[in-house]
Amino acid sequence: MIMKNIKESVKRYLERHGYGSMQCRAALIDMDGVLYDSMPNHAEAWYRTIAPLGISCTREDFFLLEGSTRTRTINMFYNRAYGYDAPEEVSLALYDEKVRQFRALGEASRMPDADKMIAALLARDVRTVLVTGSSQGTLLELLDVDYPRAFNMPYRITGEDVKHGKPSPEPYLMGLQRAAVEPHEAIVIENAPLGVESGVAAGVFTVAVNTGPISAKALYDAGADIVFDSMPHFAAHVAELIEIVNTTKL
Ligand code: MG
Repeated sequence: MIMKNIKESVKRYLERHGYGSMQCRAALIDMDGVLYDSMPNHAEAWYRTIAPLGISCTREDFFLLEGSTRTRTINMFYNRAYGYDAPEEVSLALYDEKVRQFRALGEASRMPDADKMIAALLARDVRTVLVTGSSQGTLLELLDVDYPRAFNMPYRITGEDVKHGKPSPEPYLMGLQRAAVEPHEAIVIENAPLGVESGVAAGVFTVAVNTGPISAKALYDAGADIVFDSMPHFAAHVAELIEIVNTTKL
Protein backbone atom coordinates (compact mmCIF):
# COMPACT_ATOMS: atom_id res chain seq x y z
CA MET A 1 0.00 0.00 0.00
CA ILE A 2 2.67 2.49 1.06
CA MET A 3 4.76 1.60 -2.03
CA LYS A 4 1.81 2.33 -4.29
CA ASN A 5 1.19 5.62 -2.45
CA ILE A 6 4.83 6.65 -2.87
CA LYS A 7 4.76 5.90 -6.59
CA GLU A 8 1.52 7.83 -7.09
CA SER A 9 2.88 10.81 -5.14
CA VAL A 10 6.09 10.87 -7.23
CA LYS A 11 4.01 10.77 -10.44
CA ARG A 12 1.85 13.64 -9.24
CA TYR A 13 5.00 15.65 -8.39
CA LEU A 14 6.52 15.01 -11.84
CA GLU A 15 3.27 15.98 -13.57
CA ARG A 16 2.87 19.15 -11.53
CA HIS A 17 6.37 20.35 -12.40
CA GLY A 18 6.60 19.02 -15.95
CA TYR A 19 9.56 16.73 -15.22
CA GLY A 20 9.99 13.34 -16.95
CA SER A 21 11.89 11.89 -14.01
CA MET A 22 13.85 12.85 -10.91
CA GLN A 23 17.02 11.72 -9.18
CA CYS A 24 17.46 12.03 -5.43
CA ARG A 25 20.99 13.34 -4.78
CA ALA A 26 20.24 15.30 -1.60
CA ALA A 27 17.88 15.17 1.37
CA LEU A 28 17.12 18.52 2.99
CA ILE A 29 16.24 17.68 6.57
CA ASP A 30 14.48 19.69 9.27
CA MET A 31 15.76 19.30 12.85
CA ASP A 32 13.06 19.79 15.53
CA GLY A 33 10.42 17.11 15.34
CA VAL A 34 12.47 15.17 12.76
CA LEU A 35 15.97 14.54 14.18
CA TYR A 36 14.98 15.38 17.78
CA ASP A 37 11.77 14.82 19.70
CA SER A 38 12.12 18.38 20.86
CA MET A 39 8.83 19.98 19.94
CA PRO A 40 7.00 19.34 23.24
CA ASN A 41 9.86 21.10 25.07
CA HIS A 42 10.01 23.96 22.54
CA ALA A 43 6.25 24.53 22.82
CA GLU A 44 6.41 24.45 26.63
CA ALA A 45 9.43 26.81 26.73
CA TRP A 46 7.72 29.31 24.42
CA TYR A 47 4.53 29.08 26.46
CA ARG A 48 6.45 29.78 29.70
CA THR A 49 8.09 32.80 28.02
CA ILE A 50 5.09 34.43 26.34
CA ALA A 51 2.18 33.63 28.71
CA PRO A 52 3.69 35.50 31.74
CA LEU A 53 3.66 38.71 29.62
CA GLY A 54 -0.12 38.54 29.83
CA ILE A 55 -0.30 37.69 26.12
CA SER A 56 -2.97 35.11 25.34
CA CYS A 57 -1.47 31.91 23.88
CA THR A 58 -1.67 28.12 24.05
CA ARG A 59 0.96 25.39 23.76
CA GLU A 60 -0.71 24.27 20.52
CA ASP A 61 -0.04 27.71 19.02
CA PHE A 62 3.66 26.95 19.18
CA PHE A 63 3.34 23.52 17.54
CA LEU A 64 1.62 25.17 14.60
CA LEU A 65 4.29 27.91 14.41
CA GLU A 66 7.08 25.37 14.35
CA GLY A 67 9.78 26.22 11.83
CA SER A 68 9.34 29.98 12.18
CA THR A 69 12.25 32.20 13.09
CA ARG A 70 12.55 33.84 16.52
CA THR A 71 11.52 37.23 15.08
CA ARG A 72 8.43 35.91 13.32
CA THR A 73 7.25 33.90 16.33
CA ILE A 74 7.67 36.72 18.83
CA ASN A 75 6.18 39.33 16.51
CA MET A 76 3.11 37.21 15.94
CA PHE A 77 2.24 37.34 19.64
CA TYR A 78 3.33 40.97 20.02
CA ASN A 79 1.04 41.93 17.17
CA ARG A 80 -1.78 39.85 18.64
CA ALA A 81 -1.47 41.70 21.97
CA TYR A 82 -0.26 45.19 21.04
CA GLY A 83 -0.63 45.58 17.28
CA TYR A 84 3.07 46.14 16.56
CA ASP A 85 6.37 44.24 16.25
CA ALA A 86 8.58 43.69 19.29
CA PRO A 87 11.62 46.01 19.43
CA GLU A 88 14.77 44.05 18.58
CA GLU A 89 16.22 44.28 22.13
CA VAL A 90 12.96 42.97 23.60
CA SER A 91 12.87 40.21 21.01
CA LEU A 92 16.44 39.16 21.86
CA ALA A 93 15.71 39.20 25.60
CA LEU A 94 12.58 37.10 25.12
CA TYR A 95 14.51 34.62 23.02
CA ASP A 96 17.19 34.37 25.74
CA GLU A 97 14.41 33.57 28.21
CA LYS A 98 12.95 30.95 25.86
CA VAL A 99 16.38 29.31 25.52
CA ARG A 100 16.74 29.34 29.33
CA GLN A 101 13.33 27.69 29.73
CA PHE A 102 14.15 25.13 27.03
CA ARG A 103 17.40 24.19 28.79
CA ALA A 104 15.59 23.92 32.14
CA LEU A 105 13.27 21.33 30.63
CA GLY A 106 16.20 18.98 30.09
CA GLU A 107 17.71 17.40 27.03
CA ALA A 108 15.35 16.50 24.22
CA SER A 109 15.86 12.95 23.04
CA ARG A 110 16.89 11.88 19.58
CA MET A 111 13.88 10.94 17.45
CA PRO A 112 13.51 7.15 17.46
CA ASP A 113 15.00 5.63 14.27
CA ALA A 114 16.09 9.00 12.82
CA ASP A 115 19.64 7.59 12.86
CA LYS A 116 18.43 4.68 10.71
CA MET A 117 16.87 7.13 8.29
CA ILE A 118 20.16 9.05 8.00
CA ALA A 119 22.17 5.83 7.57
CA ALA A 120 19.82 4.66 4.80
CA LEU A 121 20.21 7.97 2.95
CA LEU A 122 24.01 8.05 3.26
CA ALA A 123 24.22 4.42 2.11
CA ARG A 124 22.53 5.49 -1.13
CA ASP A 125 24.91 8.41 -1.66
CA VAL A 126 22.22 10.94 -0.81
CA ARG A 127 23.84 14.12 0.55
CA THR A 128 22.18 15.06 3.85
CA VAL A 129 21.66 18.79 4.54
CA LEU A 130 20.24 20.31 7.73
CA VAL A 131 17.63 23.03 7.14
CA THR A 132 16.34 24.34 10.47
CA GLY A 133 14.72 27.60 11.54
CA SER A 134 16.29 27.10 14.95
CA SER A 135 19.25 29.12 16.19
CA GLN A 136 19.35 27.16 19.41
CA GLY A 137 22.90 26.05 20.17
CA THR A 138 21.77 23.34 22.59
CA LEU A 139 20.61 21.00 19.86
CA LEU A 140 22.93 22.21 17.11
CA GLU A 141 25.92 21.19 19.26
CA LEU A 142 24.45 17.71 19.75
CA LEU A 143 24.16 17.04 16.02
CA ASP A 144 27.82 16.04 15.64
CA VAL A 145 27.45 13.57 18.50
CA ASP A 146 24.11 12.06 17.50
CA TYR A 147 24.50 12.17 13.71
CA PRO A 148 28.27 12.13 13.14
CA ARG A 149 29.45 13.42 9.75
CA ALA A 150 25.88 13.81 8.45
CA PHE A 151 25.72 17.61 8.74
CA ASN A 152 29.24 18.98 8.46
CA MET A 153 29.61 22.55 7.23
CA PRO A 154 28.54 23.82 4.74
CA TYR A 155 25.60 21.39 4.87
CA ARG A 156 23.96 23.09 7.83
CA ILE A 157 21.48 25.95 7.48
CA THR A 158 20.08 27.51 10.66
CA GLY A 159 17.86 30.44 11.58
CA GLU A 160 20.95 32.67 11.54
CA ASP A 161 21.58 32.03 7.82
CA VAL A 162 18.28 33.16 6.37
CA LYS A 163 16.41 36.44 6.14
CA HIS A 164 12.99 34.87 5.72
CA GLY A 165 12.26 31.73 7.70
CA LYS A 166 9.85 28.98 6.76
CA PRO A 167 7.22 29.09 5.19
CA SER A 168 9.29 31.20 2.77
CA PRO A 169 11.12 28.95 0.28
CA GLU A 170 14.42 30.68 1.17
CA PRO A 171 15.77 28.07 3.66
CA TYR A 172 15.18 25.15 1.30
CA LEU A 173 16.40 27.07 -1.75
CA MET A 174 19.59 27.71 0.22
CA GLY A 175 19.74 23.99 1.01
CA LEU A 176 19.56 23.15 -2.70
CA GLN A 177 22.33 25.66 -3.37
CA ARG A 178 24.62 24.22 -0.67
CA ALA A 179 24.09 20.69 -2.02
CA ALA A 180 24.54 22.02 -5.59
CA VAL A 181 21.41 20.28 -6.83
CA GLU A 182 18.21 21.25 -8.67
CA PRO A 183 14.76 20.96 -7.04
CA HIS A 184 14.05 17.64 -8.83
CA GLU A 185 17.32 16.22 -7.48
CA ALA A 186 16.31 16.40 -3.82
CA ILE A 187 13.68 15.58 -1.25
CA VAL A 188 12.62 17.60 1.80
CA ILE A 189 11.95 15.81 5.11
CA GLU A 190 9.69 17.85 7.42
CA ASN A 191 7.21 17.44 10.26
CA ALA A 192 5.49 20.85 10.45
CA PRO A 193 2.98 22.60 8.17
CA LEU A 194 5.12 25.76 7.76
CA GLY A 195 8.15 23.65 6.91
CA VAL A 196 6.16 21.65 4.38
CA GLU A 197 4.96 24.90 2.77
CA SER A 198 8.57 26.06 2.54
CA GLY A 199 9.75 22.83 0.88
CA VAL A 200 6.86 22.83 -1.60
CA ALA A 201 7.44 26.52 -2.42
CA ALA A 202 11.08 25.67 -3.18
CA GLY A 203 9.77 23.15 -5.75
CA VAL A 204 11.09 20.08 -3.93
CA PHE A 205 9.34 16.70 -3.40
CA THR A 206 8.31 17.08 0.25
CA VAL A 207 7.95 14.17 2.65
CA ALA A 208 6.15 14.89 5.94
CA VAL A 209 6.81 12.65 8.91
CA ASN A 210 4.07 13.20 11.46
CA THR A 211 5.83 13.04 14.83
CA GLY A 212 3.59 15.38 16.86
CA PRO A 213 -0.01 16.10 17.87
CA ILE A 214 -1.22 17.65 14.59
CA SER A 215 -3.29 15.76 12.01
CA ALA A 216 -1.95 14.20 8.80
CA LYS A 217 -4.55 16.31 7.04
CA ALA A 218 -2.84 19.53 8.22
CA LEU A 219 0.35 18.28 6.55
CA TYR A 220 -1.39 17.31 3.29
CA ASP A 221 -3.22 20.67 3.33
CA ALA A 222 0.18 22.40 3.60
CA GLY A 223 1.12 20.60 0.36
CA ALA A 224 3.05 17.51 1.52
CA ASP A 225 3.61 15.04 -1.33
CA ILE A 226 3.36 12.13 1.10
CA VAL A 227 2.86 11.77 4.86
CA PHE A 228 4.34 9.02 7.06
CA ASP A 229 2.73 8.51 10.46
CA SER A 230 5.97 8.16 12.47
CA MET A 231 9.74 8.25 12.14
CA PRO A 232 10.12 4.45 12.58
CA HIS A 233 7.58 4.01 9.76
CA PHE A 234 9.46 6.39 7.47
CA ALA A 235 12.89 4.97 8.40
CA ALA A 236 11.64 1.49 7.48
CA HIS A 237 10.63 2.69 4.01
CA VAL A 238 13.15 5.41 3.12
CA ALA A 239 15.32 3.07 1.00
CA GLU A 240 12.28 2.06 -1.05
CA LEU A 241 11.22 5.68 -1.35
CA ILE A 242 14.60 6.66 -2.82
CA GLU A 243 14.41 3.70 -5.21
CA ILE A 244 10.91 4.69 -6.37
CA VAL A 245 11.87 8.38 -6.68
CA ASN A 246 14.86 7.43 -8.87
CA THR A 247 13.04 4.97 -11.13
CA THR A 248 9.56 6.44 -11.65
CA LYS A 249 9.15 8.00 -15.08
CA LEU A 250 6.25 9.76 -16.73
MG1 MG B 1 10.26 20.56 12.56
